[in-house]
Amino acid sequence: MTRRRGGTAHDPVEGGLTTTAAPTPAPATETAAEFRLTAMDRCDSCRAQAYVAAEVNGTELLFCAHHARKYEVKLRAVATTWHDETARLEEEQTRVGISA
Ligand SMILES: [Zn+2]
Repeated sequence: MTRRRGGTAHDPVEGGLTTTAAPTPAPATETAAEFRLTAMDRCDSCRAQAYVAAEVNGTELLFCAHHARKYEVKLRAVATTWHDETARLEEEQTRVGISA
């Protein structure tokens, strides 16, 4: 029998150490005014989350990134306003990829 347990079971850190996380104040949401489309806004074509809002004849049409791109040429020709938040998609995607 050469089997033996390495080290001791004592853990000097265990117990008595209560690190209360400092309540960091949430920074002011500066992007709130710039981005107004939320998860409640849905693409008129497929009900996916909308990232583009186009106003046509006084009516606001909402599109996901996919359909916004698909109809962009036609829409831009008739739309009075074009609100594009698809940059958020790219941001969110790159943020996920960051590991270091
Ligand atoms: Zn869509």
